[in-house]
Amino acid sequence: MALLDIVTYPAPILGKPCKLIENIDEDLVCLVEDMTETLYDAPGLGLAAVQVGVDKAMLVYDVAEDEDSEGTGLKVLINPKIVHTEGKVTSENEGCLSVPEFRADVPRFACVTVEGVDQDGKPVKIDAEGLLSIVLQHEIDHLDGKLFIDRISSLKRSMYKRRVAKAMKAEG
Ligand SMILES: [Zn+2]
Repeated sequence: MALLDIVTYPAPILGKPCKLIENIDEDLVCLVEDMTETLYDAPGLGLAAVQVGVDKAMLVYDVAEDEDSEGTGLKVLINPKIVHTEGKVTSENEGCLSVPEFRADVPRFACVTVEGVDQDGKPVKIDAEGLLSIVLQHEIDHLDGKLFIDRISSLKRSMYKRRVAKAMKAEG
């Protein structure tokens, strides 16, 4: 296993849709392991492959609310799709490992149903609400080349972009 570097905005790869995964090979299993380690090290609730520079439709997440449960609540989702949505909600203080030092309230669906396959290639269907619903929408956005800052007001977005531009200039 290895820790992977997390790609941050404005890296162009974060703005591109990912490719569907056709077979689950050894490389992919390896990537899942490395992404898991990277997720827990960060730490974060979810991580999409594109955030470590791999433009494949895969993500890992762990929204285990019961800390006493044995092991971890790690889940792997390959080629996930939101097939149903319900209601509207605003996430509070949403953040992203690829958008460091910035948080915002983001308009989201209250509930989503997600279909995909797990690391064994078995079909999975998840009915999510609350935090899990937000995390899944956030991570699936990554697979579509979208960041949470694309879903906030243009004023707030330009504030963040200016900050990044300034920091990059300062770094030379
Ligand atoms: Zn993110």
